[in-house]
Amino acid sequence: PRTSVITGAASGIGKATKELLEQRGERVIGVDLHDAEVVADLSTAEGRGALVDAVREVSGGRIDAVYAVAGLAIPAPATVAVNFFGTVASIEGLRPLLAGSEAPRAVVVSSMAALMASDDELVALLTDGDEPAAMDRAQVLAKEPSTTGQLIYASTKVALSRWVRRKAATAEWAGAGIPLNAVAPGVIATPMTADLIDTEQERESLLKVVPMPLNGIAEPIVVARLLAWLNSAENTHLCGQIVYVDGGSDAVLRGDSV
Ligand code: NAD
Repeated sequence: PRTSVITGAASGIGKATKELLEQRGERVIGVDLHDAEVVADLSTAEGRGALVDAVREVSGGRIDAVYAVAGLAIPAPATVAVNFFGTVASIEGLRPLLAGSEAPRAVVVSSMAALMASDDELVALLTDGDEPAAMDRAQVLAKEPSTTGQLIYASTKVALSRWVRRKAATAEWAGAGIPLNAVAPGVIATPMTADLIDTEQERESLLKVVPMPLNGIAEPIVVARLLAWLNSAENTHLCGQIVYVDGGSDAVLRGDSV
């Protein structure tokens, strides 16, 4: 059976993915702050290093797939640390352990929020990989009015999608036979969004900003099924894509852009 590593496995999309893969007979090494085989804090350099060491030990040094799902949506610098630097460190740190697999795969979770307003300065710092400066910029944005807080989250997802685009076709990934992709979900019913979609009125006003004409707000299993396919042996040629699983938000918001 395949061995997969899932960050953010204790809740929401990560948890649904873990359950799905286990039902299909895969071995899953879950990573999270709590309730996981590997407990690690992806917001710190120590935690990122500990994640790789622990997965190497638990797996015996060989894994088949990485699912970097862990994320935060709070208007604070921690969102930068987890969503971008924690995700990139997970994917890059675990890549050597994929070398022994017959069908190595990796996927990250971006967001349709990448289509919303973002902060150019923060995106540039993330793209440069400058964590201290990116954290400082996020601190400035965090002090501004509440709507600006969303700029931090959106910026992390723009930078993450861009990172996948830049890396996927390189020698380290495509050249090593490893498809690297992202999914970009619309609104998914998880603890992350629970406060935003509590009432019918809240759901309606959110769907005005994030239109989901096909079937509306989705359950996490919807995203889990896509993640599982992207990281399966069946996926031999889908590479460097940001796959929107958003009930049509991208088609509405970006229209003719392809
Ligand atoms: P969630 O809050 O249910 O789960 C996120 C998990 O990440 C939690 O278990 C949390 O403990 C873990 N995590 C947070 N900080 C961590 C850290 N420092 N170290 C290790 N683990 C940490 O949220 P979710 O909705 O399942 O989100 C999963 C991913 O999907 C995130 O990247 C999120 O940005 C993305 N996403 C969610 C939605 C949505 O509508 N829910 C939409 C688009 C994208």
